[in-house]
Amino acid sequence: MAISPQSWYSSKSKNHFTHTDSPVLRIRRHPAIPALSMIDPGGVVLGLEGFLCSYVLQAEKTALLDIGPACALPATLEGLKRLGIHPQAVDYLLISHIHLDHGGAAGAALRILPNAVALVHPAGAAHLEKPFKLWEGSRRTLGALAEAYGQPEPAPPGRVIAAQDGQVIDLGGLELEVLFTPGHAPHHFSLWDGRHRLFLAGELAGVRAHGIRRPAVPPPLYLEQQLASLDRSIALRPAVLCYGHYGWEAAAERRLRAHQRQLLLWRDIVAEGRKAGWGQERTAGECIRRDRKMVGLDALPQTQREREMAFVMNSVAGLTWHLKQALP
Ligand SMILES: [Zn+2]
Repeated sequence: MAISPQSWYSSKSKNHFTHTDSPVLRIRRHPAIPALSMIDPGGVVLGLEGFLCSYVLQAEKTALLDIGPACALPATLEGLKRLGIHPQAVDYLLISHIHLDHGGAAGAALRILPNAVALVHPAGAAHLEKPFKLWEGSRRTLGALAEAYGQPEPAPPGRVIAAQDGQVIDLGGLELEVLFTPGHAPHHFSLWDGRHRLFLAGELAGVRAHGIRRPAVPPPLYLEQQLASLDRSIALRPAVLCYGHYGWEAAAERRLRAHQRQLLLWRDIVAEGRKAGWGQERTAGECIRRDRKMVGLDALPQTQREREMAFVMNSVAGLTWHLKQALP
């Protein structure tokens, strides 16, 4: 059966991407870094359990990395409450990139968190303030999933700050350096906490969810930028890696190197498929078959497997786009 990410989202997924009544909110505290916690809003969207997460960084000041989609905001705010954080105590919303699942709730959250400012890549700032174009584009590419994530509200005036590469956010006892890491999106940044050797990757390191690890490189993909961003993060020699999806892991440097190799493996398979005329679906199948990080995809529940499959197709489309630029 031929599926493209677009057709899958907008036709097959209508039943899958409904909101669930009882998200199981989860809070995790990092065992070795007391300043770091994670809020998993739970299955706010059916099929996306164990996929969405926000990170809380708490010192004298408090920052939240990736507020998540609009539909997850009530659960995320409840998570803050359970961590004992008052809405007035949140100083920063750090938005790794403006895709709906990372920054969709920013506008609404800024109204509820009266002292917070949102920090985003300069190319994303206007989209937080006037999200209509972003919303229309997301609906076109994600279809029903965009509807499930929810429409972003405009950020209140004066509350969005354009980040700078190398900027240090001083939380008082914890410093976070902003690193522009284009690849997954051109307006993407990651964060580095040198004291704990903690690298908050956003989506630079791909996706690790449900026991599989996969690239997240939709078109238009500038692969050289993505690889250079990974080089830059590897050079920091990080110890702990936080994924935008999902959770943290030790051996960060090794994970980042492995992700780089995975991207090159998939690129080579996509190039082989182009030569042999396989088509996108067979190419996606070969990526899954030849990559041992994808073992386990078949064993996932149907909703998650189909969702992951759509994202795999999207990365194959991104790599195909990249190869077409080099060799039309
Ligand atoms: Zn994402």
